[in-house]
Amino acid sequence: MSETTVIVGAGHAAGMLTTTLIQKKYDGKIVIVGDEPHLPYQRPPLSKAYLSGDVELSSLYLKPQDTYDKAGVSLTLDTRVESIDRDSRELALSGGDILSYDNLVLATGSRVRRIPVPGADLSGIHYLRAIADVDALRPALTAGQRLVIVGGGYIGLEVAAVAAKLGVSVTVLETEERVMARVTGETISRYFERKHREAGVDLRTGTRVVAFEAGDNGRVGGVTCDDDSTVPADLVLVSIGIQPETALAEAAGLPCDDGILVDEYTRTDDPHILAIGDCTRHRNLYFDQPVRLESVANAVDQARTAAATLTGADQPYNAAPWFWSNQYDLRLQMVGLSEGHDETAIRGNPDDDAFAVFYLQQGTVIAVDAVNLPPAFMAGKKLVGARAAVEPATLIDLDVDLKSIM
Ligand code: FAD
Repeated sequence: MSETTVIVGAGHAAGMLTTTLIQKKYDGKIVIVGDEPHLPYQRPPLSKAYLSGDVELSSLYLKPQDTYDKAGVSLTLDTRVESIDRDSRELALSGGDILSYDNLVLATGSRVRRIPVPGADLSGIHYLRAIADVDALRPALTAGQRLVIVGGGYIGLEVAAVAAKLGVSVTVLETEERVMARVTGETISRYFERKHREAGVDLRTGTRVVAFEAGDNGRVGGVTCDDDSTVPADLVLVSIGIQPETALAEAAGLPCDDGILVDEYTRTDDPHILAIGDCTRHRNLYFDQPVRLESVANAVDQARTAAATLTGADQPYNAAPWFWSNQYDLRLQMVGLSEGHDETAIRGNPDDDAFAVFYLQQGTVIAVDAVNLPPAFMAGKKLVGARAAVEPATLIDLDVDLKSIM
C-alpha cells in the first residue's frame, strides 16, 4: 500500500508542495487539512489588488479544485488539526475524526500579533491575515472615513495606499523612527514616507499607541498615543507583525525557537515530520545561522525542498531570500538581507521614481532594494546569490549594463 502524506495548513506552502508533488508524480496519497474554508491561496493580494476590489476571489487560489480532484488529493477544509500523536502517527481533527499519516508536513504559517493595550477589543479594530479579514475590512473603506493604521510595516503601508486612493482619510502610527525599519534601509524608508505624505497620508513615526478610546455605540472612536494625543478614528487596522504558528508542534514536543526548527531538507527532529513556510526557523545554506522568513519566496522554496525530501531526491535549501511590496504605482523588490551592511550604493535617482539601493559588506553585495527598476533587482538577485564583490562606482554607473558585470 502506498504511503500517506498529510499536510497541515492549506496556505501557500501547502499549495506549492502539493503541486510540486503532483508534477513529480509522487505515488503516495496526499491529504491537506486546513482550518480556513478556502483552497490554498496567495495572501499578497489581500493588502493590494483584492483589498482594492481589482481582482476576484477565485484569482487568489493557487490552483482550482479540479487540479486536486484529478490528482486524487484529498482536501479537508474548515477543519483544524488539534493535536499530533507522534507514537501512533495520528492527528486529532476538530470534527472529532482521527487521521493517520506516514509523513506529516506542518505548513501552519503565522498568526497576527495582537496589541495589548486598553480598548483593544472594541469593535471597528481590524487585523489582516486572511480572506475573511479583508471581507470584513473592505466595506468600511469608503471615502471620508477615518482609518488609523497601527504599524508602518509593508502590510500597513500597502493598506494605506489602497485606502488613500479610495478617498479614505488615513493616519499611520509607527513606533520606530522610520517605516519598514525591520526590512529595509533608511533611503527606502524615507522615500516611501515621502510618497505616502504626498498622497495625503498623515504618517507619524516615533509614536507608540497606548490605548483605544470608545466612540459611539461602543465602537472605536480614537487612538491615543504616548504623547497624549488622540487621533480620531472610525476604524483601525492593527498591523504590527506576526508570530509563527508553532502551538501544534510545541504541544507534540517538537523543538521550536520562534519557529519550528528544521534542517536544510525541511526535516524536524522526528523522521516522519517536515515543516515548511512561515512557521519554521530553518537552515538555509545561504545563511550562517538558522533564519525565520515571512515571504512567498520562502514558502515556495521550502515547499520544493520538502517535495524533494519526500521523493528521496534530497536537495538542500540554498537560496537568497527575496520579497516585494506594491504601494501606489511603486513596485519595491528586495533580495538578500541588508542587516550588517557597511556601505550603500544608489543606482538611479529617487526623484525619478526608479532607483535601487545596493547594500555591501566588505565590498560584497549582500542585498538590493529596487523601486520600479526590475533590471537592477534581477541583476541584484544574481549578485547577492553569488556573493559577488563589485565596486560601488560600477553599481551606480548607469552606462554599465548590470548584466555585463555578472
Ligand atoms: P499561510 O499562507 O499563512 O498558510 C498557513 C495556513 O495554515 C493558514 O490557512 C492557517 O489558518 C492554517 N493553519 C494553521 N494552523 C492550523 C491547524 N492546526 N490546522 C489546520 N490549519 C491550520 N509575502 C511576499 O513575499 N510578498 C508580499 O507582497 C506579501 N504580502 C502579504 C500580504 C498580506 C496581507 C499577508 C498576510 C502576507 C503577505 N506576504 C507576502 C507573506 C506571505 O503571504 C506568507 O509568507 C505566506 O503566505 C506563507 O505561507 P505559509 O503556507 O507558510 O502560511
